[in-house]
Amino acid sequence: MNVGKCAVICGISGQDGAYLARLLLGKGYEVIGTARDAQMSSFANLRKLGIYDQIKTESIALNDFRSVLQLLTKVKPDEVYNLAGQSSVGLSFQQPVETLESISVGTLNLLEAIRFTGSPIRFYSAGSSECFGDTGNIAADENTPFRPRSPYAVAKAAAFWEVANYREAYGLFACSGILFNHESPLRPERFVTKKIIATACRITVGSGEKLSLGNISIARDWGWAPEYVEAMWRMLQQDIPDDYVIATGVTHTLEEFVSATFTCLGLDWREHVEIDPAFYRLTEIAISRGNPAKAQECLGWKARYMIHDVVSMMVQEQLKNG
Ligand code: NDP
Repeated sequence: MNVGKCAVICGISGQDGAYLARLLLGKGYEVIGTARDAQMSSFANLRKLGIYDQIKTESIALNDFRSVLQLLTKVKPDEVYNLAGQSSVGLSFQQPVETLESISVGTLNLLEAIRFTGSPIRFYSAGSSECFGDTGNIAADENTPFRPRSPYAVAKAAAFWEVANYREAYGLFACSGILFNHESPLRPERFVTKKIIATACRITVGSGEKLSLGNISIARDWGWAPEYVEAMWRMLQQDIPDDYVIATGVTHTLEEFVSATFTCLGLDWREHVEIDPAFYRLTEIAISRGNPAKAQECLGWKARYMIHDVVSMMVQEQLKNG
């Protein structure tokens, strides 16, 4: 299939970038992926998915307007997906300026460059459920006010309003996906879910180590990354640009994620987990709930994989390939 469309994926070396690239290639897109230094990046995730050879890569510094404009002028894409930026909530407390710049200034430069070119480029921006802060028991939807509780969430909230503002002020086709947590074997180990899976799999083959975690009573909505990128693409195929919450709609505690992982391996998590207050966050979100009804109604998107599927697929892949 050749749709004759060209898509730029900023941050293609990350988890979502790799899965989105695979999806778009399958739909016949020409895919151009950007990294801060395309010469130095190993693009390990693209290689793992076996698609590296089908993608053109470019270096781009999203915090440098000239760099962004130059790329768009050269490539003339139909769609731009911005998945780049510092993406760890924990790290954002240590690198607040880097986080704010890479996310908020990066998004602004892309929007401004698209406006400057005057081309009808469709733009997807990777928003985050972290913007909602603590939702309590009321599931957040597209109208729920933001109460960000980390430098990362503050940066994502700014980017969200930049997108909304360029859409309203200049008529850009720009959308934010407000995505809840989504996991996969491509997650790096600094994310707690991958740490749990990787450590539990080492324990099961006799490493003898303990799994050290912070607050395991926090609750999140965990989905499966490969199907979340489908929602991103669908947003850009609509007649009218808009923002969408993407979630499974079901929330579990981190303890449940841990328990599901060890159960999958035939182990009792209580024998292998220790709580270390060093992993507690300065401002932690206790409960995060999402309502994906609008995505289902307007995009025809609904999560098929729930927490136990996600855990099981990550464990299987970890045992197979480490
Ligand atoms: P990753 O961290 O896997 O990938 C992000 C990419 O951004 C990296 O590959 C990297 O590319 C680039 N990047 C990292 N740090 C910086 C920085 N300081 N400045 C500029 N670029 C940087 O993220 P995911 O694929 O998991 O997520 C994609 C997007 O979706 C991110 O914006 C994330 O915040 C957001 N998101 C993710 C969720 C999830 O659960 N996965 C939930 C909600 C939102 P390179 O090093 O090649 O330049």
